[in-house]
Amino acid sequence: MFDTRELGRRPGALKRLSRSVPAPKDLGIEVIGVREGVTVELDLRLESVMEGVLVTGTARAPLTGECVRCLEPLERELGADFQEMYSYPDADDRSRHADAGDDAEEEDTLFLEGDLFDLEPVLRDAVVLALPLQPVCREDCPGLCAECGARLAEDPDHHHDAVDIRWAALQGLAEATSDGEKDNAPRSRGVDSQEK
Ligand SMILES: [Zn+2]
Ligand SMILES: [Zn+2]
Repeated sequence: MFDTRELGRRPGALKRLSRSVPAPKDLGIEVIGVREGVTVELDLRLESVMEGVLVTGTARAPLTGECVRCLEPLERELGADFQEMYSYPDADDRSRHADAGDDAEEEDTLFLEGDLFDLEPVLRDAVVLALPLQPVCREDCPGLCAECGARLAEDPDHHHDAVDIRWAALQGLAEATSDGEKDNAPRSRGVDSQEK
């Protein structure tokens, strides 16, 4: 919640403020975001206008997430810009009379609660818009091996041999030939002729 009391309601009044706030829960998307409780630096510019207070600002915070290709943790710096109009509740009554039936616009209208406004929904939208939808550890991240899940960045020559190791084993068996028996070789005897 931010206070607009010092700003006053005189149109044209301007106030800048910087604030460090702890990040709310679930600030981000599944693969990347601002961890809960991490410091978010806010630079805000509040401007008093006829209907309410126009808030323009920037949010900075560290991001943590993981690479969508190789699942390695990664860190980034978030810079999100936003601008939002917070209307005075009574100003809305007037505009409702002016153009009744503009439902879509009315749903988007945020209101001041007394002198306060809640920045959280605006911050949430701005952060999600500023996040990379497919964060990668580096642009040319090769990801994981489809076969075994190894990180290809750590092992660029990684490959799987096409030849199955079982075939090599069979090859070895075929080469081990058995020795035949050699005892049946006929012996040639010299025939003694006894001639006297
Ligand atoms: Zn990666
Ligand atoms: Zn592999």
